Amino acid sequence: MIAERLHEVEAEIEKARLRRTQVPKDAPVRLVAVTKNHDVAAMREAIDAGVQEIGENRIQEAKSKFDVLDRKVKWHLIGHLQTNKAKHAVKYFDLIHSIDSEHLAVAVNHAAASIDKIQDVLVQVNLAEEASKSGIHEDGLMDLLKAVDSLENLRLRGLMLIAPNYEDVEECRPLFRNMYGIFQRIRGMEWKRAKIEYLSMGMTHDYRIAVEEGANIVRVGTAIFGQRQY
Ligand SMILES: *Cc1c(COP(=O)(O)O)cnc(C)c1O
Repeated sequence: MIAERLHEVEAEIEKARLRRTQVPKDAPVRLVAVTKNHDVAAMREAIDAGVQEIGENRIQEAKSKFDVLDRKVKWHLIGHLQTNKAKHAVKYFDLIHSIDSEHLAVAVNHAAASIDKIQDVLVQVNLAEEASKSGIHEDGLMDLLKAVDSLENLRLRGLMLIAPNYEDVEECRPLFRNMYGIFQRIRGMEWKRAKIEYLSMGMTHDYRIAVEEGANIVRVGTAIFGQRQY
C-alpha cells in the first residue's frame, strides 16, 4: 500500500516537473517522506520501496525513531525548533528547514560547533504573513540570511515555505511563484559560506503546483502514508 502510493507520488512529481513553464524542466526534485505520527514499521516499508529522505517535525519523536530505525536515510527537520532543543537537532538531522530567527540560528550554530559539525539549514519564510505560522516575514528575510551566512558552523542551503491551507489550492500558485523569484534572486547573490540550492515547498495538497512553480524539495506525508492518527 505504502509502496504503491509512494510510486504514485513520484510519478506525479515527474509529471508536474514536465509541466513547468517558468522553471527549467530538467531541475530534479527531492522527495522528503514525512513520517510524523507514523511508526517505524511504516518508515521501513517506505524506505524499502525507495524513500531516501525522511521528514520529522518533532525532536522527541525523531529521536525515538532514530535509535531503532535500522536503515540509512537522510533526516530532515521540518517543524518549528526551540533553541533549547538545538543540541538534539544538530545530532540527528542532515537538513534543518525551520530557521526563522537570528536567535535560533545562533543557538544551532553553537550546538553544531560543539560537535564539530557544519549544519545545513534552510530559512523558513512566512510569505503570506499568517499569524499562526512560524517563519520570517519577507521584510526581515535579507537580514536573517546575512546573519545565518555569517555563522561559521551553519551552511545556508536555501528557503522553505509552508503555504496557507487555501480551500482552492490554485491560490497557492502566486505565492509559490513569488517564492521562486526570491529564491532565484538570493541564489544569484554572493555569500560568504552559503551554498544556495534548495527551495522546499509543497505538501500533500499542493506539491504538484509547488513543483510546477520551482520547488526542488517537496515534503509529502499523507499522500504516502494515509491520514495521521493523533
Ligand atoms: C506534516 C508536514 C508536512 C506533510 O504534510 P502532508 O499534508 O501530510 O503531506 C509537510 N511539511 C511540514 C512542515 C509538515 O509539518
